[in-house]
Amino acid sequence: MTEDKKSCLQEYKLEQDNELRFEVETKGEKVYLTLKSGLAEIFGTELVKGKTYEFTSGAKVAVYTWQGCTIEVKGKTDVIYTAKETPMIIYSNCHAALEIMRSECENDNKRGPIAMVVGPQDVGKSTLCKILLNYAVRMGRRPVYVDLDVGQGSISIPGTVGAIVIERPASIDEGFSQEAPLVYNYGYKSPSGNSKLFSMVMDQLALTVKERLEVNKKTRHSGVIINTCGWIKGDGYRQLLHAGHTFEVDVVLVLDQERLYNELVRDMPNNVKIVFLQKSGGVVELSKSARTENRDQRIREYFYGTLKNQLYPHSFDLKWSEIKLFKIGAPPLPDSCLPHGMKPMDHLTKVVSIIPSPGILHHLLAVSFAEKEDEDIIYSHVAGFVCVSNVDTERQTITLLSPQPKPLPNNVLVLSDLQFMDSH
Ligand code: ATP
Repeated sequence: MTEDKKSCLQEYKLEQDNELRFEVETKGEKVYLTLKSGLAEIFGTELVKGKTYEFTSGAKVAVYTWQGCTIEVKGKTDVIYTAKETPMIIYSNCHAALEIMRSECENDNKRGPIAMVVGPQDVGKSTLCKILLNYAVRMGRRPVYVDLDVGQGSISIPGTVGAIVIERPASIDEGFSQEAPLVYNYGYKSPSGNSKLFSMVMDQLALTVKERLEVNKKTRHSGVIINTCGWIKGDGYRQLLHAGHTFEVDVVLVLDQERLYNELVRDMPNNVKIVFLQKSGGVVELSKSARTENRDQRIREYFYGTLKNQLYPHSFDLKWSEIKLFKIGAPPLPDSCLPHGMKPMDHLTKVVSIIPSPGILHHLLAVSFAEKEDEDIIYSHVAGFVCVSNVDTERQTITLLSPQPKPLPNNVLVLSDLQFMDSH
């Protein structure tokens, strides 16, 4: 098909169990999709017949149909094809197995299945989580989604771990509703940035999620779906084991890598079910630069919203005396100088008070709910994030870009390693 033809209006007739895959790459390009007849879904969210959905650059989409359908696509796609081989039946069987576990838990008033999706980079982990959550919520469940992917996560901004209760299917354009997310600041884009801190933050998230499961019956029976990041070797693997242990997972779904599957079978407790799943041939690999661009985009959207749902952030000055600024991690001490009882790695999670300096320019700061100025800062979830757009050392003020106006919900701010260059 020529470029020209690709940009015309095209009709696609899909047979049952087929998937129409397409990508929009060109900046500024828009592609419109309408379901004309039959039934179809995008990563578990049903399409409404006759409604037109808009996709902009960066979109990598699969429209799957269980029964067969006709779809109309308008606009210039960079890749578009129909796939007859998809793992959707296997994924749906996984959902069915989880659903059986949920029903059993409901009968015994027990906690529903905690399932963790693991695998290397670009195998469709986030997509599988989305499919399983959408299927669960379509069955009337209220599962918790936990995202441990600090690099390409979908709750809050990069450098955080978080959880949300899923109450309705993901919207095709905006994903899952982000009402009342539970977010913990970690501050690095990879778990390797500060492994010890990552474990502590993950433990705290697990604790809070378990508490939430206790108080809400429906959520308790629905269980949890956990997304992880693609770092699966060495320390990354140990972090996966730790996540499995701390969240007390019942099921691990391993995408694509048999070696990881076998390692987990060897190292996970016997009562944990480890399931190997093939990845979808449609999953698109992201280049390093696309990953960086995705991260920037998420932060930009955090402050400015999306094209459809624009946000208008505030910019204001605060006196240094009005805030308490901290960073996590102090320089290491030689073993001989360690205070009594302190372990060599403890400096990595030391909460250190700092004075604003030009070095924090463009950095994100977590607005912590912490009430005490100690480890509570690591263990407290965050109200949100601000970005430092100026540091005036003479007037001793900092200028912040903030989603909400002054005053901030708390004056305890924690420095993140992540930066955002505001080009607005
Ligand atoms: P990461 O390692 O970065 O966390 P991941 O393993 O979670 O990646 P996804 O983010 O789920 O992978 O998928 C990568 C990209 O592939 C996404 O843009 C997603 O929309 C796309 N994708 C997933 N499945 C399909 C499919 N069947 N057809 C077309 N595109 C797909």
